[in-house]
Amino acid sequence: MTKVPFLDLSVQHRAIREDLVAAATAVIDSGWYILGGEVQAFEREFAAFCGVKHCIGVGNGLEALQITLRAMNVGPGDEVIVPSNTFIATWLAVTGVGATIVPVEPDPASHNLDPALLEQAITARTKVIIPVHLYGHPADMDPINAVAQRHGLKVIEDAAQAHGALYRGRKAGSLGHAAGFSFYPGKNLGALGDGGAVTTDDDELADQIRLIRNYGSKKKYEHLVKGCNSRLDEMQAALLRVKLRSLEQGNEARRGIVARYVAELANRGIEVVEPLPDTVSSWHLFVVSAADRERLRTHLQDHGVETMIHYPVAPHLQPAYAELDYGGRTFPIAERLQNRVLSLPLFPGMTEQQVDQVLGAIAAWRP
Ligand SMILES: *Cc1c(COP(=O)(O)O)cnc(C)c1O
Repeated sequence: MTKVPFLDLSVQHRAIREDLVAAATAVIDSGWYILGGEVQAFEREFAAFCGVKHCIGVGNGLEALQITLRAMNVGPGDEVIVPSNTFIATWLAVTGVGATIVPVEPDPASHNLDPALLEQAITARTKVIIPVHLYGHPADMDPINAVAQRHGLKVIEDAAQAHGALYRGRKAGSLGHAAGFSFYPGKNLGALGDGGAVTTDDDELADQIRLIRNYGSKKKYEHLVKGCNSRLDEMQAALLRVKLRSLEQGNEARRGIVARYVAELANRGIEVVEPLPDTVSSWHLFVVSAADRERLRTHLQDHGVETMIHYPVAPHLQPAYAELDYGGRTFPIAERLQNRVLSLPLFPGMTEQQVDQVLGAIAAWRP
């Protein structure tokens, strides 16, 4: 039996191989590899794509979030609200600057931060809320921003899964004070290595982030703040510029596959985690929720369909955070979701046969 891989990047890259090679060759021949014309051009193009004034290329998605927190002067003694169900990087960004994690539970239907639970998590020390557009489904930003505004808080979108997603007509990356993107290869806009970016409309914040990512320096050997080294490099920027041109087309291809999955799953009584009304998901992941997740996973595997779990262990249950104390608060929704979610194969360039094989495997499922 042929296997359907969870993700195959090589098909996507084969289709644009000549353009990628030309872009890489130009960088090799340029003799300039860090903070040059390609990074500047990519920053301009990605800012325009997101509909914001500034994009600052950085080393990866985790550092995009962490540097933004540092630029906002968030540190020890400050509290940052994060979802209880997210990839560990959202949490690591907060603890990385020495601030205190305050997890808030998701809405059980959307799996995204529940705005109704925000107010009760806010204290005099709260500085920032980091909603995550999980699976590429935009978080409910209007009520989140309203709460933030009422309490004088900043909002940083974790947009690592949401390149090109829309909330009420506006792009992910333009929905808060700033946003962190990842260009990890498997993301909707992926480099051929690590990369990340911050987007914002705030001139001062953008300046500060530019300083911090480059040793706190604007002028060589003059260091204004204790920065770090987290720069998107010329090679990745050049490759990302090529890939940005087909991002919308790739997201559209994902939506086409999703429509077929959704129709078949409805027949089989498997619950799909859908985006909120008035949003357009980037469909980074196609996630279903099933009480007998393990049996479903084995069934799909037996039919040659590879699946993944995003994420099998919530951050508060990770050994890395064993020492944290949440003042007696527990996170039963995050724990329930970790045991039910299952991600099906979904990537641009998936063949008709691959999609048919997944549909056939779903059709053969007996709940
Ligand atoms: C991928 C991801 C990150 C981190 O990005 P890296 O580039 O791998 O550091 C952060 N948050 C979420 C939700 C992600 O999916």
